Amino acid sequence: TYAIGAPCIDVRDRSCVAVCPVDCIYEGARKLYIQPDECIDCGACMTECPTGAVVRLEDVSGPGAEFASDNRRFFEDV
Ligand code: SF4
Repeated sequence: TYAIGAPCIDVRDRSCVAVCPVDCIYEGARKLYIQPDECIDCGACMTECPTGAVVRLEDVSGPGAEFASDNRRFFEDV
């Protein structure tokens, strides 16, 4: 599962949106979010992001891991 972390805040480059094959990246007020139930784990967004904001949650722990719940919460609020 992939998520978008802090480097996206107030940047929102949107390169990831253009390459996501299933259009599961959504725009919030200050950053972009990956819909975890729609993401097919292809990794294209991670390669494309100029700020390196996309993280593969299996590879992160501690700081960064919080973005798993952050991304999920965004979709629960809408
Ligand atoms: Fe979209 Fe692939 Fe990134 Fe998931 S890993 S958000 S499917 S580009």
